[in-house]
Amino acid sequence: MSKDKSAKIATPQPVRGTQDMLGDFADRFAYVVDAFERVRRLYGFKRVEVPVIEPTAVFARSLGETTDVVSKEMYSFDDRGGESITLRPEFTAGISRAFISNGWQQYAPLKVATHGPLFRYERPQKGRYRQFHQVDAEVLGSDSPLMDTELLVFADHLLRELGVSDGVTLNLNTLGDADSRDAWRAALVEHFQAHRGDLSEDSLVRLDKNPMRILDSKDPKDRPIADSAPDIDAYLTNEAQDFFAAVTAGLDAAGVAWKRDARLVRGLDYYRHTAFEFITDRLGAQGTVLGGGRYDGLIENLGGPATPAVGWAAGIERLAMLVDAERIDNRIDAVIALEDDAALAQAQQAMALLRAEGISVEMVANGSPRKRYDKAAKIPAHALISIGMRDGALNRNVRGDNETAKRVDAILQDI
Ligand code: ATP
Ligand code: MG
Repeated sequence: MSKDKSAKIATPQPVRGTQDMLGDFADRFAYVVDAFERVRRLYGFKRVEVPVIEPTAVFARSLGETTDVVSKEMYSFDDRGGESITLRPEFTAGISRAFISNGWQQYAPLKVATHGPLFRYERPQKGRYRQFHQVDAEVLGSDSPLMDTELLVFADHLLRELGVSDGVTLNLNTLGDADSRDAWRAALVEHFQAHRGDLSEDSLVRLDKNPMRILDSKDPKDRPIADSAPDIDAYLTNEAQDFFAAVTAGLDAAGVAWKRDARLVRGLDYYRHTAFEFITDRLGAQGTVLGGGRYDGLIENLGGPATPAVGWAAGIERLAMLVDAERIDNRIDAVIALEDDAALAQAQQAMALLRAEGISVEMVANGSPRKRYDKAAKIPAHALISIGMRDGALNRNVRGDNETAKRVDAILQDI
C-alpha cells in the first residue's frame, strides 16, 4: 500500500443526467408524490409495484422498434446469466407484462397507479434527465370511453391539486380505431411521398416504418409538410367518432377544459383512439408535463389476451419545477430545546406524547445547553418548546401564536 499522502483519490462523479435531491427540490418532489397518492385514492386507483428491470423484449415488442425510446434511449445490458435486461424507460409496458404474467385479467377493469424512477439515454438539459421519475395511472381491460374520461379528469385534478394548472393546456386528439387509422395512414403516406425530397433524414426513415410519427416531428424542415398533411377526421369510422364524442362530452360535463390538436400522435406505435398531452408554456422546450392515451393493441402484442387499456404518465421533476414556493411548507410542527440535561427524560416523554398525537417534533439536545434555544429557534417550526429546570423543578415553555402551539401546550400539560 502506498503511504504517499499527497496521492489524491479521484472523487466519484454522478452519472450525467442524474440528480441528487435535498432541501427545496426534494420537498417539491415529495409534495408532488403526496398529492398524487391522495388523488389516485379519490379516483379508486390501486397501488401497483413493478420491477425496474425487465427483459429487453418487453419494451422492444410493445413500444415498437421505430420509437425514439427503443431505437436510441434504452439502457440495455446483458446480465451475468446472458439475458438482455433493460432499465425501464416507461411504466406501461412493464405493467402490461405484469398483467399477463399474473393473470390480472380476472380483475378487469383494473385501475392501477404507481410512481418511481425511469431511465432514458437522452441529452441531459433542464427538465430532461437520464434518470427521471414519473407518476403513472392506467386502466387495463376496459374499452369504455368513460375510462378515458376518468383518467383525464384525474390528471386535471392532480394538476389543480398541485396548483400548477394555470398556463397548462390539455391537448387532445383521436387516432381512431384500427380501420380509421389504416385509412388515415395510407393518406399520410401518399402526402409524405409527394414531399419526399423535402423531408428530414429521420422522417425518411419514419416514412418507411412509422409515417404517423412525422406529424409530431420537431425538425423545422418537416413542419410545413406535417402541418399540411390531412387530418384524421375524414377517415374516422362512425364508431371512432362516437368514441371521441363520448370522451369529450365527459370532459365537458366534468368541467375539464381541452383543446383539439389534430397533429398530436405521440411516440408510441400502439396508440388507438384517445391521445393527449398536458402542456405548459413555463418550461420551454420541455413543456409536456403529462402524456398518455389508449393502447388497445399492446397487451396482445406482448402475447397476452386481447385487452383494451388506457393510461398516462407525468414527469415528477417537471411538475415539481412548476409548484409555487408558497405551497411547500417544510416546517416541522414543533422543536424542543433541551436547556438542561437533567430534564432529558421528560423531554423524551414529551416527544413520545406529541408524536402519538400526530404532531411532528424534533429536539436540539447536543452542544452547549445555553446555545440550544437559539439553535432550535432557527429550525423552521410552528411551535418552539423549551424544557429545562428552574429551582429544582421542571420548567416548560411553549412559544408560537398558532393552533399547533395551543395543541402542543395542552398535550404537555402534565409534564
Ligand atoms: P418529451 O416529448 O418531453 O420527450 P415524451 O413524449 O418522451 O416527452 P413520455 O414518454 O410521454 O414523454 O413520458 C411522460 C412524461 O414524462 C413527459 O411528459 C415528461 O413530463 C416526463 N419525461 C419524459 N422524459 C423525461 C426525461 N428524460 N426527463 C424528465 N422527464 C421526462
Ligand atoms: Mg422523449
